Amino acid sequence: MPKSTKSIIEVKNLTKVYPGGTKAVDSVSFQVREGEFFGFLGPNGAGKSTTMNMLVNLVKKTSGSVKIDGFEVTEHADEVYKRVGFAMQEVGLDEVATAREMMELHGRLYHLQPAEIKEQISKLLKLVELEKVADKFTSTYSGGMRRRFDLALSLIHKPKILFLDEPTQGLDPHARQLIWGHIRELNRQGMTIFLTTHFMEEAEQLCERIAIMDKGKIVTIGTPDELKKKHQSKNLEEVFLKTTGSNLANEEVNENASDPYIRARR
Ligand code: ADP
Ligand code: MG
Repeated sequence: MPKSTKSIIEVKNLTKVYPGGTKAVDSVSFQVREGEFFGFLGPNGAGKSTTMNMLVNLVKKTSGSVKIDGFEVTEHADEVYKRVGFAMQEVGLDEVATAREMMELHGRLYHLQPAEIKEQISKLLKLVELEKVADKFTSTYSGGMRRRFDLALSLIHKPKILFLDEPTQGLDPHARQLIWGHIRELNRQGMTIFLTTHFMEEAEQLCERIAIMDKGKIVTIGTPDELKKKHQSKNLEEVFLKTTGSNLANEEVNENASDPYIRARR
């Protein structure tokens, strides 16, 4: 199927200044095409999560505009929520429910019909290979199973665009491969994927286009081949190292950082 040329995400001069004064995102502009597999890379503290959260209206933007499938996020939040699924770093799973129960609840929250909910649950649990544990408490799941369940849950309402914030962080290579496979399959079926990751090799293989962010700005954007050519690098990791600085000092001292590694150390 030929790829659409329609922009499904349109971001213009998007800026976030957190209370306290940190300018996490500094006038960022880019577009993502319908059906595209788009990757967002950058060092810790670059502003990736903040950007992604503003795209789905989970964090309020300070200025600039975001359109999702033509709808301005702050003006038409309901239309946006219908169209997006998200599996975020911050989202926790309910500990005292089974996977099936949670999916049923989410289906009802999105006003799906009971038959549709049932159909989606069986389709999605199959997709992420969790059918056998559908009736077990999610609190008993391993890290990899939780990520896969989180992915299934984010898809219950058949979103057009899937937002994933570090979907494979903290997983072993095997669990990681499984998740990447599922995401690739969703994209193959036509879903637009917007993801942040630290895994360069996978990003290089999976993403059609990549934006690299550093200190709140997009420092370079293009297809993996374009980026390697432009920055005279043999792989994406080299592009990354050439275009970004280290933010380590920064993340150590910021009390409000949303990175889970930083929070876990507190
Ligand atoms: P990334 O996802 O690329 O690691 P973030 O978007 O989490 O980056 O963070 C960008 C910057 O904004 C960092 O300096 C971080 O410490 C800061 N930040 C993130 N969340 C908050 C918050 N809730 N309040 C204040 N500052 C924040
Ligand atoms: Mg982040």
